[in-house]
Amino acid sequence: ESSEENAVDRETLGRATWTFLHTLAAAYPERPSVERQRKTSLFMTLFAELYPCETCADGFQEIVANHPPRTQSNAAFARWMCEVHNEVNVSIGKPVYDCSRASERWGTCESCKGHEKELDD
Ligand code: FAD
Repeated sequence: ESSEENAVDRETLGRATWTFLHTLAAAYPERPSVERQRKTSLFMTLFAELYPCETCADGFQEIVANHPPRTQSNAAFARWMCEVHNEVNVSIGKPVYDCSRASERWGTCESCKGHEKELDD
């Protein structure tokens, strides 16, 4: 019975992952260093390769290859994330999302900020 409780489906994994990816983009610096840009591009390429849904990974690798990550600024990367999410939406018959609304929908994670060492305080 525990295998049923622990089962994750493609939709649940997808929603959780888009939350992660759009939050990653929202937290991206306004003026990233060249090194941060390089790592972010590399991360997205490796992410597309390793995403644990085979058909999704195949499709997303092609999308990223055709839409190289734009990592010059927070606005550029957040917009890029919205656009590649829309590419996935279209490929599975979901409506295109209005990217001018993406910054309202997704923001930085307030409780994720800072380095709390003493959680019990
Ligand atoms: P989701 O698409 O999960 O989106 C979550 C929320 O994000 C939405 O409710 C909306 O508020 C917001 N949103 C929607 N579009 C955008 C956008 N463009 N920009 C910003 N915010 C937006 N499923 C498949 O069946 N086949 C696939 O090939 C496939 N490939 C995937 C590839 C990746 C990289 C990921 C992360 C997921 C993939 N999925 C795939 C899963 C799919 O994208 C959805 O996550 C899943 O179908 C659940 O959809 P949903 O309607 O809950 O909304």
